[in-house]
Amino acid sequence: NYRCRSAFKLLEIDDKYNILRPGVSVVDCGAAPGAWSQIAVKRVNATGESPDHPCGAVIGVDLLHISPLDGARFLPNQDITSPATHAELQRLLPGGLADVILSDMAPNASGFREMDHERMISMCLTLLDLADKVLKPGGCLVCKFWDGGLSWKLQQGLAEVFKEVKPIKPKASRKDSAELFFLAKSFKKR
Ligand code: SAM
Repeated sequence: NYRCRSAFKLLEIDDKYNILRPGVSVVDCGAAPGAWSQIAVKRVNATGESPDHPCGAVIGVDLLHISPLDGARFLPNQDITSPATHAELQRLLPGGLADVILSDMAPNASGFREMDHERMISMCLTLLDLADKVLKPGGCLVCKFWDGGLSWKLQQGLAEVFKEVKPIKPKASRKDSAELFFLAKSFKKR
């Protein structure tokens, strides 16, 4: 039982691209209510449920409260764009580093499509600072965005530090929404 229907998007993305393997460390940005973290905990073996596989780690961050989840560590009431949160993540991640950054974050929608798009893109661009601080070389990032006139900026920003960047639209994402995801692979440390 997932806490949110958004689960199906991550399941679909991960079934295809196989990002969440046992032993991997994950930062889940905008984690509330926690469905993506539920999937990550299982797939990286964060509870050590499969003793024959390495144990991963999942840390979820959200502005909101998140109910506890076995195998995950949550940082509720924290802004992922803030350097204080980045420092906290560096302190909590095994070896201070993550293999994967997931972001299903979204700003509160104003209803003005262009304004929401711009705020979304700025928010996603801050993930590059987070990646600089915590992502391992070779690591990957999955981030949701609302498509629009500035999407190229995000794609370009990602392409500067990842070897491979591609837009994906999961079937579980409504066809009529502007929602898309970037999958960025093979992080190059600056
Ligand atoms: N992936 C989640 C799940 O499966 O349960 C659903 C995420 S929900 C669509 C988006 C979340 O992003 C909201 O809970 C919101 O509070 C969070 N968010 C928005 N801006 C944020 C920020 N600056 N820092 C942390 N979380 C943020």
